[in-house]
Amino acid sequence: MTQTESSNCLFCRIVRGEIPSKRVHADDDVVVFHDIHPAAPVHLLIAPRRHVDSLISAEPGDQALLGKMLLLAPRLAQEHGATDGFRLVVNNGPGGGQEVPHLHFHILGGPRPWRQMSTGS
Ligand code: AMP
Ligand code: ZN
Repeated sequence: MTQTESSNCLFCRIVRGEIPSKRVHADDDVVVFHDIHPAAPVHLLIAPRRHVDSLISAEPGDQALLGKMLLLAPRLAQEHGATDGFRLVVNNGPGGGQEVPHLHFHILGGPRPWRQMSTGS
């Protein structure tokens, strides 16, 4: 992705604070915020600060970042009230129903019923 594309990317803009979000965590590598259209009582998105399209374009150099994102998920789920477990969803590419082409992990949890998540179809 070129600089221009990244400057127009929705989640790059959220990461930079150009578009408001309900942020719950930020560090040097990732930003975590509430999904604007929650599918469950707890619905957070973990996005890397650096633009990566999806897991399809992730590289060996992204291994530490991906591990960090995975390890953050249970901690944030617990802190935000998903105390009895959570679901982690990662949509990849149009065929995977990914609507925002900046890698993100969905953390879903809390009491059911949950809304059906968009499948991108
Ligand atoms: P995906 O289909 O995996 O790309 O998921 C994109 C998610 O981003 C959806 O669950 C949307 O509700 C969410 N979303 C879209 N725009 C925003 C926004 N401005 N702030 C927070 N979440 C958003
Ligand atoms: Zn981006």
